[in-house]
Amino acid sequence: MEYGLESGFTIYAGGLGVLAGDHVKSAGDLRVPLIAIGLLWDEGYTRQAVNQAGGVDDFHPKTPRDLLRRLDARFEVTVQGKSVPCTAWRVEHIVSVPLYLIEPIHEEDRWITQRLYGGGEEDRVAQEVLLGVGGVRLLSALGIRPEIFHFNEGHAVFAGLELLRENRFGGDNLAERVNNLRTHVVFTTHTPVAAGNEVHSLELLRKVGADLGFSDEDLGYVGGNPFSMTVAGLRMARIANAVAELHGDTARKMWKDVERAAPIVHVTNGVHPGTWQDARIRAALAPDKDRGTQDAQLAEARAAMKDELITAVGKRAGVHFRRDQILIGFARRAASYKRADLILGDHHQLSELFGRGVQLVFSGKAHPKDIAGKSVVSRLAAAAREFPGHVAFVNAYDMELGALLTRGVDVWLNNPRRPLEASGTSGMKAAMNGVPNLSILDGWWPEGCRHGETGWKIGDPDPSDDAFSEVDAPRIDSRDRASLYRVLFDEVLPAYADRGHWTSIMRASVAMSSWRFSSDRMVEEYVRNLYWP
Ligand SMILES: *Cc1c(COP(=O)(O)O)cnc(C)c1O
Repeated sequence: MEYGLESGFTIYAGGLGVLAGDHVKSAGDLRVPLIAIGLLWDEGYTRQAVNQAGGVDDFHPKTPRDLLRRLDARFEVTVQGKSVPCTAWRVEHIVSVPLYLIEPIHEEDRWITQRLYGGGEEDRVAQEVLLGVGGVRLLSALGIRPEIFHFNEGHAVFAGLELLRENRFGGDNLAERVNNLRTHVVFTTHTPVAAGNEVHSLELLRKVGADLGFSDEDLGYVGGNPFSMTVAGLRMARIANAVAELHGDTARKMWKDVERAAPIVHVTNGVHPGTWQDARIRAALAPDKDRGTQDAQLAEARAAMKDELITAVGKRAGVHFRRDQILIGFARRAASYKRADLILGDHHQLSELFGRGVQLVFSGKAHPKDIAGKSVVSRLAAAAREFPGHVAFVNAYDMELGALLTRGVDVWLNNPRRPLEASGTSGMKAAMNGVPNLSILDGWWPEGCRHGETGWKIGDPDPSDDAFSEVDAPRIDSRDRASLYRVLFDEVLPAYADRGHWTSIMRASVAMSSWRFSSDRMVEEYVRNLYWP
């Protein structure tokens, strides 16, 4: 549905898109014979800013077309009973594997691709029909018959329905066809938040995707009734994966009652080093240097990157941070489980932190229709007004700002309600740049954390919380907040005050992450364990 390739190429919203972008970039670097398919959105996700009055404004940039070359391909998809002629564009220069973006040919059909994650449920299904059904038909129009289909998140599963409809892999009845299809499909699930797993009524699917020709009974056989995109993905795949080890446990528990589901393994996410790791870090740690030289150059590179961020925050947010004091960063989509404002919750502790020199920089954005998320964004901006000089909020979070932040701060903060962060990837970007993580043991962090060496954990997980209900949230939040302050005062601040110790933590962050949390390692695992085991 989205690809985060380059900051200004705005067909991405957040982590899922950036991950897909990194996936295709690494596939290109490793020469994996992979073709990626998405939609050409006319307008991107919101470029969001908090205004003078503290309200949140949305602005949707037009997708630039200078990186696109139109293909000589034409195919049709029926949406809401109407035939929609489509073509596709290839993304040039940024990626070396083919990335094709589907677009309706006629202006009157472009409502489908008008805006990334725009519109209501019916629009969403129309978008997914275009992506899935259109994707399969595009490849046929190009004369390509893939061996393996990777449905990366439920958004793509209509491709499976299309392959069943055309009986690509044979079978006399639906059960046989599904069985034969499964040999050719792998599926990735990305969200342990129940509400994030899309469900649609069979009636809506029949209305929007009528030409697929499935009866309610057939649709239910594949995705249940109502139709769950995740269940459909699990049932059409030979093997499925979660996106971190812990998420594997969560996903297996979450989907254990689904009959005929693929086994769920995990492939931990990674980030593209060429995109996210500053070249100065690689240069500083070049293996032909002695340790003393490496340490000195690493410290120099880190100081330069922090300087660049502080200058940018001064320009963009009018807050002038001190270079000689610790700077902690947090930038996320404003989903409530990520708890952007956890650290702001206790004013007494907060003023102690400010007294010890702590500076906080925030960024983030909420979906334009997410009222609660927008109020989190407003609250962060309000904190910047309330604590001048100590807190900054930077508008318009995008890949460029994400890169600036994850290489410019001293510590990267991550405090989701466990186990709701499937993986998280911004912390990997930070680690690769020598920025230690201070994080709840959720997502990828249990795999990367050596407490006090590569960064710090916030508290210890209580497994009985892992299936918590909303009623428990306030208790969990205050416990985690107390743990956060404790580790900051007792461990992070003393380590920061000791130059030699801090340098060893920066080094360990880079060493721990550069391969294990790179998308090269991730794509290699997809190839070896899922695509061609
Ligand atoms: C890396 C990145 C993300 C994902 O970060 P998480 O830690 O997974 O929340 C989201 N948005 C942008 C712009 C990014 O660069």
